[in-house]
Amino acid sequence: MGWKKRVFILEDDEQTINLYRDIFKELEISIFVARDIRSAVKAIRKIKSDLMILDLNLPDGSGLKILEKSRELGIGTPSIIVSGIFNQELVGLSRELGAVCSISKPFSTQTFIKIVKTILEIKKLVLTDKEKCQFVYLESSQDGSTKYVAFDEGRAIEFASLNEERRKRHTICLSSQYGCRMGCQFCVTGTKLNHNVSNIHYKDMLAKISIAQLYYGYEYKRKEIIFAGEGEPSLNISNILKLIEKLGNEFEFRMSTVGLIKTLPKITENLAHVLKELQISIHFPIDKLRSFHIAIAKSNPLKDILNLAEKFANKSGKNVLLNYTIFKGINDSLDLAEKLAKLAKGNPFIVKLSKANPHEIYHPVMDTEMNKFEEVIKNFEVKTKKFKSRSQGTSSVCGHMAAEIEGNQNAIKP
Ligand code: SF4
Repeated sequence: MGWKKRVFILEDDEQTINLYRDIFKELEISIFVARDIRSAVKAIRKIKSDLMILDLNLPDGSGLKILEKSRELGIGTPSIIVSGIFNQELVGLSRELGAVCSISKPFSTQTFIKIVKTILEIKKLVLTDKEKCQFVYLESSQDGSTKYVAFDEGRAIEFASLNEERRKRHTICLSSQYGCRMGCQFCVTGTKLNHNVSNIHYKDMLAKISIAQLYYGYEYKRKEIIFAGEGEPSLNISNILKLIEKLGNEFEFRMSTVGLIKTLPKITENLAHVLKELQISIHFPIDKLRSFHIAIAKSNPLKDILNLAEKFANKSGKNVLLNYTIFKGINDSLDLAEKLAKLAKGNPFIVKLSKANPHEIYHPVMDTEMNKFEEVIKNFEVKTKKFKSRSQGTSSVCGHMAAEIEGNQNAIKP
């Protein structure tokens, strides 16, 4: 690339130092390595750098000391914290001290390079203050799919970039609320981030899209946003509509809802012409069972949800996907597969089967069990889809990381 840039590295692990050497050699960027706080403090006074990469656990102290010292000396070099451990205190402190982002070890080299390039090039990008919001990057899989936590006035919120190389498609999974009150017992957001729930403003959603696009949005022509992640999107339709209006035709849109009888008509009225796909998370084909695992199911019977889903399908001319996450020993019986098939049969529905993310008593089934379940549904001539995670190595955007960072001390169980 021929950049005349220099990166300051504080790291004591030789393997990681060698990895940095290889990466920056490839990028033609020179590096300076300090292996402890003492020599780093001396070096930052003399060595001018364009980026600092700081480990947290050094034999003689924490890498945060260098952030503190830089601030004291008026050095404004952008800094990345790289660490094996993150907690609320460390994230908070590094943000306060001015770190641009944090990366968890082990990291994907591909994503690390993108982050470094982005930060070094950031001056070339025209960003609004909101778009410059500090963020924590925590997980990345080998295919480059990345999950982020960003901060909006102290509230942690997750979003993700997913890459589909085969279709040259880039998907951003966008949260619509801080936390969620729907009470799904199998979901981290529903069980741990169900306090102080509020809607995300469309400008804050735009900021997340900008951050995700910094890394991946320019690679693929097909861009897509799915309103899923944290929160129930149908409860924040006004901001979603404004967001869609701002983004124009640049993106395709999909939405995943838990299925509320009061908001499904609003989705049909306002979004039938815009959404490429509507997904309704059924997960249990019997109301009694569903109510046991999803708090709002008590006041939202399946019969009504499916009637309203049919209206969306009729107006939009598209099939509705019935999401069914299979939980081992809970909703995986072939009898329930038959009941699910009977709900979908003869209607414009496709059953989308997914494996669970492990959480408390909820665990995924094996491939063979999923295949048997699918076979039963197919025997009723109902179309099925199996969801393949595009972010192997990262959990989906369901509040795991935000909950970890916000700390669980405030968690209120429904
Ligand atoms: S699964 Fe979705 S609707 Fe249910 S609690 Fe979690 S975020 Fe809310």
